[in-house]
Amino acid sequence: MRPYLLLTPGPLTTSETVKEAMMSDWCTWDEDYNVGIVEVIRKQLVELASSRPEEYTAVLMQGSGTFCVEATLGSVVRPEDHLLVATNGAYGKRMGVIAEYYRLNCHVMRFEETQAVDPKAIGEYLDGHPEVTHVSVVHCETTTGVLNPLEEIAEVVKAHGKVLIVDAMSSFGGVPVDMAALGIDFLISSANKCIQGVPGFGFVIARRSLLEQCKGVARSLSLDLYDQWDTMEKGHGKWRFTSPTHVVRAFMQALKELQTEGGVAARHARYCENHRVLVEGMRGIGFKTLLPDNEQSPVITSFYYPNAGFDFKAFYYALKSKGFVIYPGKISQADTFRIGNIGDVFPTDFLRLIEEVKNLNIKF
Ligand SMILES: *Cc1c(COP(=O)(O)O)cnc(C)c1O
Repeated sequence: MRPYLLLTPGPLTTSETVKEAMMSDWCTWDEDYNVGIVEVIRKQLVELASSRPEEYTAVLMQGSGTFCVEATLGSVVRPEDHLLVATNGAYGKRMGVIAEYYRLNCHVMRFEETQAVDPKAIGEYLDGHPEVTHVSVVHCETTTGVLNPLEEIAEVVKAHGKVLIVDAMSSFGGVPVDMAALGIDFLISSANKCIQGVPGFGFVIARRSLLEQCKGVARSLSLDLYDQWDTMEKGHGKWRFTSPTHVVRAFMQALKELQTEGGVAARHARYCENHRVLVEGMRGIGFKTLLPDNEQSPVITSFYYPNAGFDFKAFYYALKSKGFVIYPGKISQADTFRIGNIGDVFPTDFLRLIEEVKNLNIKF
């Protein structure tokens, strides 16, 4: 069932037991599904995300992660509001594109792709632009693997009294975050990243008091986050439209496995060890990382091409034939490729990968 390991930012390698959980069919309006699965997931997500779960609520939404980012921006930011998007990669940029589609008043602050978002610069911008009401930022920018300083960003945004929206797609469940402690208002992630489920839906964890005020704001029916939440809340786990039942059931299993592993702290420690083994091994061979160590997340790592004539395709297929699927780079300033550290993959897998890379006798 596993022709190769996915060393990618998602969909990623899942356990056999998560895949097996998809082997039964569920009725979308039966309580076995709504109360027994959906409500359990919503409650667990809020508990994972916040030390004060009573202040937060979770909404699940069909589609990939981007659907949830769009649902949030389109259901929370009103026509008269001003959104500041801080971006240092493709996913931050995408939030700006969504804002354009919705014709939101949007301010985009661009940072270098190889640098973390600077909280001080955000503070200065907010000082000069009191009209800004909402700030959105990506936690781990999967484009490069940079981990933005969420605590410091949240501190600045909250000191200015703005609503904070975080795309924590590739970090939630794998990097500890406490929404209540940081004052985060909306946090977005999806099934197929650090929780290690299969793709098909995403979720938004929201400050209840703010989401309650969002009735009628959405400009899309299927992406109306408020209405989706209202139906789930009143219907005890009911979705408005057909939900990806098998995927949702698999996600409940994935959450159970996260708990068994020891929770987010233990998973974070494993990802950090995966990352350490990978980077030490690759540097030992001669590869260089794109980012300095202090900006690097344990989620995904970008490496420079080893030489000017490097044939990424050949490298990719050579590793694939040995059981490892890696990822191309995504930035324009440098030739890079990426290797993901998340999923049901372990330090021993990365030791094996390093051996295979060594055997390729790459010239530097
Ligand atoms: C994966 C990811 C997304 C969502 O991408 P989809 O392809 O829509 O699932 C958004 N933001 C970040 C940071 C991501 O890593």
